[in-house]
Parts: sequence; structure tokens; C-alpha cells
Amino acid sequence: MSQLPLQETRTTDSAIDRALLEWAAVVGREHVIDNAAALAEARTATFATSQATPAILRPADRSQVQECVRIANRIGIPLYPISSGKNWGYGSRVPTADGSVLLDLSRMNRIVDFSEDLAYATVEPGVSQRQLYAFLRERGSRLWIDATGASPDCSLIGNTMERGFGHTPYGDHFAQVCGLEVVLPDGQCIETGFARYAGAKAAPLNRWGLGPTLDGLFSQSNLGIVTRMTIWLMPAPECFQSFCCRCDGEGGISELIDALRPLRLDGTLRSTIHIGNDYKVISAIRQYPWDEMGGETPLGGPAWAKLRKQFNIGSWNASGGLYGTRAQVAEARRLVRRALAGKVDKLQFLDDRMLRIATRFARPYGWFTGWDLSRTLELLRPVYGLMQGVPTEHPLSSAYWRKRTPPPERMDPDRDACGLLWCSPIAPATGEHALQLTRIGYRVLLEHGFEPAISISMVSERSLACVISITYDRDLPGEDERASRCHDELKRRLAEKGYYPYRLDIRSMGAMDGQPAYADLLRNIKLALDPTNVLAPGRYITGA
Ligand SMILES: Cc1cc2nc3c(=O)[nH]c(=O)nc-3n(C[C@H](O)[C@H](O)[C@H](O)COP(=O)(O)OP(=O)(O)OC[C@H]3O[C@@H](n4cnc5c(N)ncnc54)[C@H](O)[C@@H]3O)c2cc1C
Repeated sequence: MSQLPLQETRTTDSAIDRALLEWAAVVGREHVIDNAAALAEARTATFATSQATPAILRPADRSQVQECVRIANRIGIPLYPISSGKNWGYGSRVPTADGSVLLDLSRMNRIVDFSEDLAYATVEPGVSQRQLYAFLRERGSRLWIDATGASPDCSLIGNTMERGFGHTPYGDHFAQVCGLEVVLPDGQCIETGFARYAGAKAAPLNRWGLGPTLDGLFSQSNLGIVTRMTIWLMPAPECFQSFCCRCDGEGGISELIDALRPLRLDGTLRSTIHIGNDYKVISAIRQYPWDEMGGETPLGGPAWAKLRKQFNIGSWNASGGLYGTRAQVAEARRLVRRALAGKVDKLQFLDDRMLRIATRFARPYGWFTGWDLSRTLELLRPVYGLMQGVPTEHPLSSAYWRKRTPPPERMDPDRDACGLLWCSPIAPATGEHALQLTRIGYRVLLEHGFEPAISISMVSERSLACVISITYDRDLPGEDERASRCHDELKRRLAEKGYYPYRLDIRSMGAMDGQPAYADLLRNIKLALDPTNVLAPGRYITGA
């Protein structure tokens, strides 16, 4: 078996000083950041980490990235690329290996190509969801982006490289991109697909190109720095409606998944269906009810029941979008209604008009029914927007669930010591698997004193992406350790049953090798591309 050099990450002061001087000559002294406050921020995530970073480099373009990589190689100091560095719940911008210099690509924020007719945009790593969304709206474009529930300021490339997902029919992000421009660990640059041929007209339109296709090598890996990517955009449909429903009891989730899967498979439902349990929904609406719970955790008993009633929340709460012509949406509505008949409570369809009416009558409705419809609408509106690719800040407040002070106007979970550690297993899209997986989540989190806030997303036709959130207050002594133990046990118990995460937090990288031959192959590819292990050591592909 080939081995990577063991320790490229420990560097002498003189080496780092020399490198800083050389990098400064490339990117400009003001874009080499090494002040203590910025470095302290850079090593702070939403859970305990120990990796320190000696500096942050902020290149302005691809050629500067290439030069930075060449210097890193020559002097032997590892680089860790980030796009916007908001990988909350999985490690934020903290590098996987101690001593790595952060390569912050957020200054590279140009939209370099756009076609309304062919529905794509080519972007650099610093382009955020907010930026592309605004770009399209300013032009009166008929195209939609797909947005995640993370901040509007999150990068499109950073999220896609982690294979993140959103809420529209283009929700599986890595499935909607092509033509990656990648700086390799030796400083050379390649483009994937047809872009490798001079003047290739279909470069931003066709993923496969000719011969072996390489795109996958650069997502969830440490084999290259993506400096450009073409993202396909969704033409706005003639008609959009959303639906939501709830069900109760443990078996509710099972029936719901089995009823929705055929509609996802036959194309009636084309977008991610998002299903959150009561804990998940409550934590998106408000903070922990410390007073009602007398300071005790986890949430349960009468206080929990009261909140469920107040916001009209079921054990499981599903929402999804219907897209197409008016006739297609009407037919989809009929099929959804038929599939869910007798299986769910309160199936409701919503469009712009109904949302306006509900907003107008929310308060009087609450007086008669006791249901706090205004607060429910506060949650519904951003979710409704996400289904149309409208980025939102709103879900980020859930990171402050266990904090004793309200979320500030400018939320920053790293700075505000919000504890957030996510475990995101994938399971087959059947009710039985959803049940097994969520049972494990409930058991382990409650045993460790956390609320099992769980979402299940039907991102694709055949599998479920489940996100189990461990949310806590990092300011409380011992909580980081407790969350970490809980997360480790959760991951272990899920893996025992065959449920593996679609994405890893930086604590877990290195522990998910799988088949020895597969791990060896990855290591050999890494060795071939990055013999000095200079790029993001330990990220997904483990060293020796
Ligand atoms: C409340 C909340 C809701 C969230 N909702 C969602 C959601 O709906 N969907 C979802 O997917 N995530 C979600 N997240 C998780 C996370 O915040 C997002 O995935 C976010 O987009 C990732 O951060 P980023 O875009 O800043 O990427 P970055 O942090 O910049 O990048 C992520 C990782 O990818 C690698 N990388 C970045 N750029 C490059 C590059 N150019 N070349 C090579 N490698 C690179 C780096 O290793 C980096 O650590 C949510 C988080 C919170 C707190």
C-alpha cells in the first residue's frame, strides 16, 4: 500500500515566515491575515476543535491561487481552501489538520458567464446564494436558483463541493453542475467535461465530456481547489403551489414516506420533500422554553405538549412543492390528496393568494381557535420561499435554540458559541427504514440529554437524507464533550444498522474508510496528485 508523507503539517517558524513573505508578494500584504483575533475566529466552529491555523490568504483570482499552491508545495505548508467558510454543524472553516493555512476564496466572487436561454451561470467560489439570486432578479430573469436553509451568504461552490442540498427540483446540488475549473495540488489547472477542448461550445452544458469523467474526484475530497463551476438554473414554472401536512405517532413517518415515494418515483413530486419532527419545527420557531421547563433538559412533558398544541405541530410535519403548468399542478394536487388520504392530518395546499389571506386573518383566527397562526406563518413563509429558491436567514436562528439570549440581528453561530453538531445518514426511501433510523436518533439523543431534532428530506427518488441535529450551548461547561460523545455513539449505532452519512464533520474524517481496496485507491490517487500532502490533509481522504 502506498503511503502519504506522514507529517507535512508541522512547520518551523522560519518556514512559515518565509512562506508568508512569498504569499504576500502574490496576493498583497493586506490579504495575508495573521492577526490573533482573526486566527482565533478561524479556529472556532460550532463544536470543540483543536486545529490552529497560522494565517489566512485571500487570493483575488485563479492565477494567484496557483501561485499560492506552488509556494505551499515548495515550502511544505498545507493549505485548506474554503469558499465562504460557513460549513456550520460540520466544522465551519476549521481545517482538518493542525497548522494548515486557510485559503479563503471569498474575494473571487465574479459571475463570469450567464445564459438566460440555456439556463446556467458560471460562478467563482465567493459567489453566494444571495448574490446569484439578486443577479437574476435584477435582470428580470425567469430563472431560479436552488437555495439551502443555511445563510444567504453561503457560497454556491462550497455547498456543492460538500454535496449539499436544497428544496426545488434542482435540490441535489452536485447533480446540477458541470465544467469545474480546478487548481491541482501542484498548481496546474484543469477544466472538467468538454471545457478541456479549446473553444468547446457545449462546455457549460454537458457534464460528461469525453472519456473518464472527473468531476466527482473534486467533491468531498482534497484533490483540487475548485475556482469556477457552471451551475444549471431552473426555469420558473408557470404555476407553483406548496403543500404541507402533519401526522402523529411513531408510525406516522413510515406511512408518510411509503405514500410519497411512488409520487417521487413517477415524477408527480419533482422536488425535495422536507419532513421535520416536532422538535425540529419548534426549534425553528422559538428558543428553548427554559422557564416552563424549570431549567431542566431535554424538552418533554407538559411544556412540550403545550408548544405542539400552540403551533399546531404534529409528530412529523411535511412540506413540498408542486411545479408545472396550471393543469399539471392541479393534477399533482389531486394525486397528492389521493395518496395521503387517511394517512395524514390537515393536508393543506398553499399559493401566493392563500398565503396573503392567511396572513391577513392570522390574528382573528388565533382568537377563535387558540392556534398561533402568526408564528406558524413566520416559519411557513421562508420554507415556502425556499421551495422557489429564495435564500433566507430564518432557519439559522435554530442554532440558538439552547442559548439563554435571543439570536442577534447579525447571526454568527461560531462567534456566539452556538453548539451544533450534525449527523446526516442516508437511508432507502421506505417507511421501515425511516422508522428504524429515527428510532436510533431518538434513543441516542434523549439518552444524552438532547432533543432529537430530526429532518428527513426526500432529495432524490429512492433515498432519504436525514439530518439529526445535536444543538446545545457551548458556553455551558461539559456540553462540548457531551455532544461529542452523543455524536460518536449515534454514528456508530447508525453504521451498525447500515446507515452511513452523506457528508462528514471534520471530527469524523479519517474514521470512514470503508473497503480497504477503495481506501487504498483513494490514497493512491491522492499520492499521485499531491505527493507532498499539501492540500487539505485528512479531508475525506485519509493519509497514512
Ligand atoms: C440552520 C442551518 C441550516 C442549514 N441548511 C442547510 C441546507 O439546507 N443544505 C445544506 O446543504 N447545508 C445546510 N447547512 C449546512 C451548511 O451551513 C451549508 O452546507 C453551507 O452551504 C456550507 O458552507 P459554505 O457554503 O460556506 O461552504 P464552505 O465552508 O466554504 O465549504 C465547505 C467545505 O468544502 C470545501 N471547499 C470549499 N470551497 C472549496 C473549493 N473552492 N474547492 C475545493 N474544496 C472546497 C472545504 O473543505 C470546506 O470546508 C445548514 C446550516 C445551518 C446552521
